Amino acid sequence: MTARLERLRQLLGELSVDAMLVSSPENRRYLSGFTGSAGYLLISKDDAVLATDFRYVEQAGRQAPAFRVERIAGDTDWLPNVAVSMKLKRIGFEATSVTFSQHAALAEVLEGISAGERPELVPTKGLLVALRAIKDSIEMEATQRAIDIGDAAFEKVSATLQPGMTERYVAWELERSMRELGAESTSFDIIIASGPNSALPHHRPSDRELRATEPIVIDMGARYQGYCSDLTRTLCLGPVDDTFREVYSTVLRAQQYAMAEVTDGMQANAADGLARTVIEEAGYGDKFGHGLGHGVGLAIHEFPSVGQRSSDVLTEGMVFTIEPGIYISGWGGVRIEDIVILENGKARCLSHARKQAVDAA
Ligand code: ZN
Ligand code: ZN
Repeated sequence: MTARLERLRQLLGELSVDAMLVSSPENRRYLSGFTGSAGYLLISKDDAVLATDFRYVEQAGRQAPAFRVERIAGDTDWLPNVAVSMKLKRIGFEATSVTFSQHAALAEVLEGISAGERPELVPTKGLLVALRAIKDSIEMEATQRAIDIGDAAFEKVSATLQPGMTERYVAWELERSMRELGAESTSFDIIIASGPNSALPHHRPSDRELRATEPIVIDMGARYQGYCSDLTRTLCLGPVDDTFREVYSTVLRAQQYAMAEVTDGMQANAADGLARTVIEEAGYGDKFGHGLGHGVGLAIHEFPSVGQRSSDVLTEGMVFTIEPGIYISGWGGVRIEDIVILENGKARCLSHARKQAVDAA
């Protein structure tokens, strides 16, 4: 935690601010260890304040020993005194997490400070997410554990699937299994999409019953010590038909090709293009309507974005998903997703859940 704080402090100069006001839950936790649902961090070169309300004061003291805990009553009224005592002139804030009304409230309380001492609010973007994309050993341990829990729950539940079970039932079985295996929660609402529903990438589980000869997309993840996993498998319970065989083997080939060819230093849109080319060449180019993947960590979707329009650069140590898909309205869809880490210049797959066996088309 101290190392993360120091890395942030080194970046204050680059941003031309003398403190960062951190309000997003993930960054608050990343920098302080504090897991409460409300509060701000204010971090300068030589001071670190965690401002939170009565519900969390004791917890904050225990979880964030590197911070002075400031007990607050309102959301923003603590800031002027602390900012003046720290002699701040420019306070950076997270432009993508502070809402319009929060910003207005922050600006209003700072108005109360005499003009000579009043600090300016400076929007910043992307700073902490870039730090978070490359995980330290403690983060990697939690991430791998979240992945292992997801893999184990998938193996257990997928072996029991039968035609007639509802999507909602399967989602609950997976959630229960992940909890029993030590997950603190799911990392997002589990997607179980069967038959034509699987043509919707983010279908919500319904009372539809699984049938034997149709695609079933299962997209699931566990959260462990705050870190998320994200896994998609597509199954067919009965004999696979020619469409399933062709679509499935195309998606699998696209995923394997992207995993084998992605390299350190590659721009994310080029990585997306690896899988997209395979899918286009098979004639399904217009059926792959989302990006290839995304970073994953304290948030389920974070930096880098691995899509057609992304200029993010993939570098050593980054953890992200590779999840191509093909979606055919009326028939269904196939998506296969694994989390990889860029290591020694190449992708190493961190998940090991079984994939549907099909003979190549
Ligand atoms: Zn997913
Ligand atoms: Zn994903």
